[in-house]
Amino acid sequence: SCDAAGVVAALRSAAEVVEAHRDELVTLDREIGDGDHGENLKRGFTAVLSKLDNAGDTPGAVLKVVASTLISTVGGAAGPLYGTAFLRAAAKLGTEPELTASSVVDALAAALEGVVARGKAEVGDKTMVDALTPAVAAARDAAGSSVAEVLRAAADAAGKGAEDTVPLVARKGRASYLGERSAGHMDPGARSTALLLRAFADAAS
Ligand code: ADP
Ligand code: MG
Ligand code: MG
Repeated sequence: SCDAAGVVAALRSAAEVVEAHRDELVTLDREIGDGDHGENLKRGFTAVLSKLDNAGDTPGAVLKVVASTLISTVGGAAGPLYGTAFLRAAAKLGTEPELTASSVVDALAAALEGVVARGKAEVGDKTMVDALTPAVAAARDAAGSSVAEVLRAAADAAGKGAEDTVPLVARKGRASYLGERSAGHMDPGARSTALLLRAFADAAS
């Protein structure tokens, strides 16, 4: 379903996916960062799980709780960025009771705008923006279809965007301290963005 209960179910799936990929994200972050990304996200989504029972009556209300929980628990660079992403998506959805394909596109676009406003990364800087930007473009192209199709298109594009970060030299965040040595590794935040979108797509279909 695309109401608040459906969004809650999707977030439970996302928490499972984060848990299942915790070590992978830690390993990626160990290559070009400080090795905490998987644990940071796992801590955040475990906290989200504890709030989902009474999170709200609309998708926007639920995502607002997710945002504040991630901001206060994830930490690092990714916490405020993911928090902002969910907060902007929540604000865009407002009080609408059910997601539609076009509202999901608008929410994803708002999430990206929030991440860029906060982190100032551009495409090619080897960050989560490299997964989210193609995801929004693909979601827009699928806007005429269903919520599930929009999310599937976004997840596919984010996965490709994350893969495409491998050869890049990081220009934002901790990985940028490595300079040229950051090339040859996938960006952990791009990978986690792709994983979250895949979890949402799977939950919607
Ligand atoms: P930290 O680097 O503080 O330990 P995390 O490991 O949790 O935080 O998150 C690292 C991820 O955050 C990176 O892989 C990258 O995708 C993302 N990131 C870092 N800085 C930025 C930024 N300015 N804009 C967008 N994403 C960023
Ligand atoms: Mg880190
Ligand atoms: Mg850290």
